[in-house]
Amino acid sequence: MSLETRTDDGWATTRFVVLGFGTAGYACADSLIQAGAEHLVVLDDRDNEALREKAVILETLGATITLGPGSTTELPKDVDVVVTSPGVPPHTPLLAQAAERDVPIWSEIELAWRLRDPANAAPWLCITGTNGKTTTVQMLTAMLQAAGLRTVAAGNVGLPLLEAVMDPEPYDVIAVELSSYQLHYTHSMSAHSAAVLNIAPDHVDWHGSLEAYAKDKGRIYENCQIACVYNVADEATEQLVMDADVIEGCRAIGFTLGTPGLSMLGIVDDLLVDRAFVEQRASSALELAMISDVTPAAPHNIANALAAAALARAFGVPATAIRDGLRGFRPDKHRIAHVAEVAGVNYVDDSKATNPHAAQASLLAYEHVVWIAGGQAKGATFDELVIAARERLRAVVLMGQDKQVIVEALQRHAPDVPRIVVEATDTGAMQIVVGEAAKLAQVGDTVLLAPGCASWDMFANYGARGDAFTEAVRALDV
Ligand code: ADP
Repeated sequence: MSLETRTDDGWATTRFVVLGFGTAGYACADSLIQAGAEHLVVLDDRDNEALREKAVILETLGATITLGPGSTTELPKDVDVVVTSPGVPPHTPLLAQAAERDVPIWSEIELAWRLRDPANAAPWLCITGTNGKTTTVQMLTAMLQAAGLRTVAAGNVGLPLLEAVMDPEPYDVIAVELSSYQLHYTHSMSAHSAAVLNIAPDHVDWHGSLEAYAKDKGRIYENCQIACVYNVADEATEQLVMDADVIEGCRAIGFTLGTPGLSMLGIVDDLLVDRAFVEQRASSALELAMISDVTPAAPHNIANALAAAALARAFGVPATAIRDGLRGFRPDKHRIAHVAEVAGVNYVDDSKATNPHAAQASLLAYEHVVWIAGGQAKGATFDELVIAARERLRAVVLMGQDKQVIVEALQRHAPDVPRIVVEATDTGAMQIVVGEAAKLAQVGDTVLLAPGCASWDMFANYGARGDAFTEAVRALDV
């Protein structure tokens, strides 16, 4: 029995259990049926009308779907492979039982890798990291498109990766965003080239420790073929390259906001340059784009652009397409989005900064900041951020469930920075927060919503939080 590619003969006889029947689980089950799987059981503890409707479709195609409480407590006896959904932690009983019984566990990414069309398999350019994944994958896609390639952003962003690989019209290359959850159960993927943007504490509950989280991120480099791209400023990413087993000849390529060494991309004057994929790299560098071609030109976003450029250059994209891709690119909403200038003060929505590492990066992009922060801290600490950003803080306005964690870090490292704590949590809370920030800001300052926390204590999601901010700023305007 072999399941290395979609044309192998083992798919019909292998007994699959798909754990989770959300978007990913449904895509896995559907793709398995397309691949010819005849023994397929899908399990989910949830049960509702929408799930049952989806279940009916797959049941008519021969799958067995079990929904409702208790469905995932016991791993069925006759199972050869478990395909799991990204949110499910490894200590879940069913996964623990699978591990105990040595039943292979695959992520949807592992399944997608094995279901590529062997006659027409598009190479994967893969990106992971704690922050900046979506932006970097989208920048990369823009560069590849500017080079005239048929491509798509897939994985943890845009299109599900399974859909991209099952597309009857083949892609030239796929820009893949991978989360640490997805990488945990990915074993045989062999990226054309891969990048880890940065590593900071996040999702530690799921992985068990920061070390385990970093190790899972590092799986992106396993079997890498052409280039392992790392962040020169973040040693942990370079260490992951050194620890990886790569295909012979695969190169380590750094990106840096400083002058690039050999086999790096970096900055010289106001230019993004390549000293890795040029023949004369010992003595010269190739100009790729100007810093002003990157929007927003915040330092961490220039780093994202360099990482995307490194992957594109590894794939052979010419410098002109790197520049054109960057010029036309704008980040998704709520990522350092300029909302308005009111009375000489700029208001910026970076609601997507949902952990301290992200918030720190955006604070360091402005000289004088009134910082709006707070929400669910997910166990994170803010000491490092406050120490790095304290010189820039005009004032801080705090809200949400874990505001006290930030208050304490400010008390320890920046006791003189004025701070206002807003207790309200209702729909009018953001208006109070923005009103307080406006009072504290001086002409030329930036009021920055970069909460460093998740939003679910007060808002439906980070998008709703950013929208509430925008609305409150607009109300100031009149
Ligand atoms: P992800 O997909 O990893 O969540 P996004 O591109 O959506 O990343 O960006 C999320 C947030 O992370 C941004 O709003 C910004 O605050 C921050 N960010 C983006 N790039 C970086 C980076 N290279 N380093 C640190 N923080 C970053």
